[in-house]
Amino acid sequence: MSVRVKNLTKIYGEQKAVDDISFQIKEGEIVGFLGPNGAGKSTTMKIATCYIPPTSGEVIVDKFDVVLHPLEVRKVIGYLPEHNPLYLDMYVHEYLGFIGSLHQLSGKRLREGVKSIIEMCGLTLEQNKKIGALSKGYRQRVGLAQSLIHDPKVLILDEPTTGLDPNQLAEIRQLIKQISHEKTVIFSTHIMQEVQAICNRVIIINQGKIVADSPVSELKGEEEHVTYLIAEFTENVDLKDLIAIEGVIDVAEQQKNQYVLKTNANRDIRAEIFKFATTNNKVLLEMREEKQSLENVFQKLTGRE
Ligand code: ADP
Ligand code: MG
Repeated sequence: MSVRVKNLTKIYGEQKAVDDISFQIKEGEIVGFLGPNGAGKSTTMKIATCYIPPTSGEVIVDKFDVVLHPLEVRKVIGYLPEHNPLYLDMYVHEYLGFIGSLHQLSGKRLREGVKSIIEMCGLTLEQNKKIGALSKGYRQRVGLAQSLIHDPKVLILDEPTTGLDPNQLAEIRQLIKQISHEKTVIFSTHIMQEVQAICNRVIIINQGKIVADSPVSELKGEEEHVTYLIAEFTENVDLKDLIAIEGVIDVAEQQKNQYVLKTNANRDIRAEIFKFATTNNKVLLEMREEKQSLENVFQKLTGRE
């Protein structure tokens, strides 16, 4: 089941939280929706799950528009909101039954649905406890369980791992991977490694705009095959001249007189740059390699270096 976002904009009062974004998610994809705090992730997810209306643009889930057919959309979407709101005074089993009944499950279907979701989410031993008595990791399992009770084809998880300790984190990531078989999943986070661990595609959003959308393998490829050289001269150098150096793939001016040269990692072109400087009567002040990590890619794209 696909999710299509088209020219979506959300304005709160004066603030543009989501600014004309478009993307499509195909059936079966697990997409990491990555961005710093305030980027517009939760807003986009709230619109896709019919919790708030868009200011303009549209979101189509399968063939249903979130504004025109919200009930149809809610039937096929499972949603774990940010901060995982739960009724702490309810028992795990009771709560999941309650959520199931909201989805109009009843009788045997409800009983079996609750039973299987409890097993699937590893809650068997906790099912008779009050939610308020559970650790954060187990509460998160309850949150995931409630999002899955009606067997939705699309899962929207808003920062499902924030605030977990490393062990809980690994368990919840594993669980998400497991439950995402045969589902379309959008998963928000501000941690790049998490996207690497779980997703096959990443969409990076910053200040309401999409700044990257690519398969995770491509970002990884970028990391492995490219080396960045920082070269600083005493004076301005024409970008055209730099890109003409053999082995340079791309160039950008980082600061005044300081340039980032994207180069092929298999090839050391420092000697070429030195020769370029001498033949053009430029004085090279500094040259260093910068390792490109996925975290760097993210920081570059979102301007938080
Ligand atoms: P993210 O989930 O990526 O952290 P949000 O979608 O929550 O980002 O927020 C995007 C921007 O919109 C933020 O600057 C936030 O302060 C603002 N915002 C979110 N919700 C509201 C609201 N109900 N009223 C006013 N501004 C809001
Ligand atoms: Mg958020």
